[in-house]
Amino acid sequence: MHDSFPETPTFVTHLECGMERDHYAADQLHGLSQAGKPLLVKYDLNQIALSVSQADLASRPANLWRYREFLPVRKSENIVSLGEIQTPLIPAPNLQGGKGSIWIKDEGRLPTGSFKARGLCMAVSMAKELGVTKVAMPTNGNAGSALAAYGTRAGMKSYIFCPEDTPEINVREIAAQGAQVWRVNGLINDCGKIVAQGKESVGWFDFSTLKEPYRIEGKKTMGLELADQMGWQVPDVIFYPTGGGTGLIGMWKAFNELKEIGWLTGKLPRMVAVQASGCAPMVKAYDEGKEHADLWENAHTVAAGIRVPVAVGDFLILRAVRESQGFATAVDDAQITAALDEVSRQEGFLMCPEGAATYAAYKQELISGRISPDESAVLFNCASGLKYELPPADQSIDITQPIDFSLFT
Ligand SMILES: *Cc1c(COP(=O)(O)O)cnc(C)c1O
Repeated sequence: MHDSFPETPTFVTHLECGMERDHYAADQLHGLSQAGKPLLVKYDLNQIALSVSQADLASRPANLWRYREFLPVRKSENIVSLGEIQTPLIPAPNLQGGKGSIWIKDEGRLPTGSFKARGLCMAVSMAKELGVTKVAMPTNGNAGSALAAYGTRAGMKSYIFCPEDTPEINVREIAAQGAQVWRVNGLINDCGKIVAQGKESVGWFDFSTLKEPYRIEGKKTMGLELADQMGWQVPDVIFYPTGGGTGLIGMWKAFNELKEIGWLTGKLPRMVAVQASGCAPMVKAYDEGKEHADLWENAHTVAAGIRVPVAVGDFLILRAVRESQGFATAVDDAQITAALDEVSRQEGFLMCPEGAATYAAYKQELISGRISPDESAVLFNCASGLKYELPPADQSIDITQPIDFSLFT
């Protein structure tokens, strides 16, 4: 029945508070730690290194579950999958800056059209393994869509709360995939409060970003996959559009795990957290040398996926950025829109606005000198550009009139 996912040994030893480092038992349902901080999954890395090799991985299908030993799901029957393919790493030789050393990692090819599928397939699989039947989540769109899809596939009920101005397509795709969805006249943190308040009375499990431990493990596969695709090498710099930060935290965890088992030996990538200037709490905290970020008032940006005014994993984002000798930087909506247009027209690649923000940041930081054109850079395009509203294209031809072929220059 589950031939596509053969049983393999698993190596989770325990969970650990990202802040206090106190331990929590594996194989039990957990939300945040006692200190109210995200829990990180810990593995017996020595045993992983002894039981699986790079050659073993290479012989498996190129998908997220190739990295099974590095993942928390114990039993294959609990894997909830919609086909999480390895996403392509596409060179972008026509873009300004690098001498052919920019790549776009196109996460828009994943189920539900965004990399939220990586996190939610893992979180839902673990929820299934731990007996959860009802889940709830605040979302700006893509996470809700992924939860709706995987939750439905796992036979769970999902309750999803979106800020009023969430893109219509996201609200509709959530509903279409069998979840219950509500628009809320507030921001994502207001939606989060509803989820927290309903825990007792409705008995749903809180799937808010980083409030359960396994989405990070799903997003961690971006780092494992990137290193694998590059022949167990890493780029010099990674530009990541940062909202709740799951992906940035997850990738940094992946690189460190790979380093610890000796699969990565050189310098790890510099992690650059890209935010929108209308919502840049991590940039402000980074610039001020703080460990935690303040709530960002009146958050606004065209890049809805990174409109996150407060993140419970703020210190983990900032830690990864600093440990990796990266930085946090913001670009405005005009830069994002111009970057999206440039990449579409120069490379034939339609980015999502959040992805476009990474290219805008790349260009900005070449000028600032914080990165150099000799550095290889990977830009994360986190969702399909087709999920967003596009500029109108309104030329038409009237076949009852003679056609003026001189138009087609
Ligand atoms: C969620 C999302 C982000 C932010 O990702 P995090 O890992 O939560 O910081 C960026 N872009 C898009 C399209 C998203 O859906």
